[in-house]
This record gives sequence, structure tokens and C-alpha cells, in this order.
Amino acid sequence: MKQTVGRFAPTPSGRIHLGNLLCALVAWLSVRSQQGKMILRIEDLDIARCRKEYAEKLQEELLWFGLDWDEGGNKGGSHTPYEQSQCSDLYKQALEHLEKKGLLYPCFCSRAQLHAANAPHLSDGSYHYNGKCLSLTPSQRQELEKQKHPAIRVHVPDEVVEFTDLHYGHQQENLWQETGDFLLCRGDGIFAYQLAVVVDDLRMGVTQVVRGRDLLSSTPCQIWLAKQLDSSVYPEYGHIPLLLDSDGNRLSKRDGALSLDHLRQVYTPEQILGRLAFAANLIPKPEAISAKELVGEFCWSKLPKEDILLPKELF
Ligand code: GLU
Repeated sequence: MKQTVGRFAPTPSGRIHLGNLLCALVAWLSVRSQQGKMILRIEDLDIARCRKEYAEKLQEELLWFGLDWDEGGNKGGSHTPYEQSQCSDLYKQALEHLEKKGLLYPCFCSRAQLHAANAPHLSDGSYHYNGKCLSLTPSQRQELEKQKHPAIRVHVPDEVVEFTDLHYGHQQENLWQETGDFLLCRGDGIFAYQLAVVVDDLRMGVTQVVRGRDLLSSTPCQIWLAKQLDSSVYPEYGHIPLLLDSDGNRLSKRDGALSLDHLRQVYTPEQILGRLAFAANLIPKPEAISAKELVGEFCWSKLPKEDILLPKELF
């Protein structure tokens, strides 16, 4: 049987928090319970927001918890580069491929126009794009290009993409109606997450993607895009519930009582993992346990479907 290849793909735009840790933990447990290979990819596309120090720090933190990887990060491997900021040529090639298929068009809409005219999209903060710039004539495009460097969108069909999520089961989305033509490159030349993640998952031979359920609605776009890049295979996807603080808010990269810096001063790695695994229903009591010991306890069906509220008294 083919070896499972998983990945953890953090964005080093701040310090990781317990939610990121849970995601790394489940991705790692899923891979390790299948004797698979783990890749660490640094998603530092947005060079203005990302910092090398954060990328270094998160690697030190993952290793402190015993969440190791076989390729990527500071370890290297046969699929370099493992930092998206170093992959521009690969993303450019993918864009050229899509351009030849006639799937791309320039978009001149400003952020304000997008906010005003397009419905907010589901949970990942993106927008359903109404296709405004699709109908521009070549001369209108030329005129607009004098004023502004356009973003690049890919034109999606009015078609339903289906897949079976490892955790949330059958999913389907009509690309044109629910997502709209999505961005592959921003006006400032920064490649979009959707393009980079697909190119990298394919070239690194990733067979299993585990990540937060906020990205569930991006998955049909990514499966469709992989097909447009002529891939007949794409990974299986497992999305996990989000971790919420005791007030029901999503954790953020800000510091606070739940920051890893604070928790690491107070608890051992096993104590933190044990409490987190308990909150995620992987073990029956919040007892100290190592990442390795958790492998034997892991099973997708133990994870809840609804988001996980961290009780105040847990940490
Ligand atoms: N880089 C993304 C993040 O940190 C994760 C992308 C993915 O797992 O597909 O949220």
C-alpha cells in the first residue's frame, strides 16, 4: 500500500497558538498511526506579514512537544524549497499552464469594490466573487492596466465538486455559485494561498491534508484546481473542529494566558498535550501523555464534529 504523506503547513505571521498545536497534533497522529511520512512546509507567501523568527520558533515549539517531521523546515529533503516564499518560479509555471488553457483573467476590482458588491464567503473570510471583470473587453483591460496592476483570477465552471472528508463526511460545493472565480495572484504580485497550496501538495506527493474546518470550503476549489493542473490524483482531506476559548472565541496569535510562552513556563509538554487531547476527546482524562503515547489512542471518530470549547479550569 502507498505510504501516507501528511503535512503541517503553518503561516509564520505570528506565534502559533493552541489551535495550531491541535491541528499539528492531529495531522501528526494521523500520519504516525499509519507509519506515514510528515512534511513541514512554511507558508510564508505574504512576505510583509511573515517572519523568519516565527518560522524558527514554531519548529522549536513543535519539537518541544515531540511533533517531529521527516522532511521540510530546517531539515530539508528531496522536495525543496519547503518555504513558499522561495517557490515563485513554480507558481509562475502553474499560472502559465492555466493561462494556456484560457482559464485566467485580470481583475481590477479594489478591496472596497469587492466588499461592497460581493457576499462574504462562509468561514474563511474570503468573498464570493461576482465575476465583474470577466466580461471586460480587451480594450477595456488595456485601458485599466494603465492605472493599475491587476490581480489574476481563475474562471470556474458552474459545476459541483464532491469529496468525502475524513471527518465531516460527504461534501459538495458548486464552484461558480458558491465560490466564484477565485484569486490566484494578488495585484501586488503575491501568489494566492489556493494556488500555492495546490502546487505544493502535488509536487510534494502529499496524500493526506489535515487542517482546521475553516478551510473546508476551500477544498473543492483546490481539488478542481489540481485537476486543471493535470493531476489525476489529489490528497484525501480531513478537517478538524476549531478550538475556542472559554468565551467561545477563536484563538488568535495574540499573547495571553493561553499563549504557548505562558503555558510552557507552567506545564510540561506532556501536561499540555494531555489537556489538549482531553479537550479534543482523544483521551478520557486530562492526564499527562506524550505525543508518542497518544498515537495508540488516536482515532478520527473520537474527535467531535462541533468546535471545541476549552474550559477555563483546564489551563
Ligand atoms: N497556511 C495555512 C494556515 O496557517 C494552512 C493551509 C493548509 O493547511 O492548507 O492557516
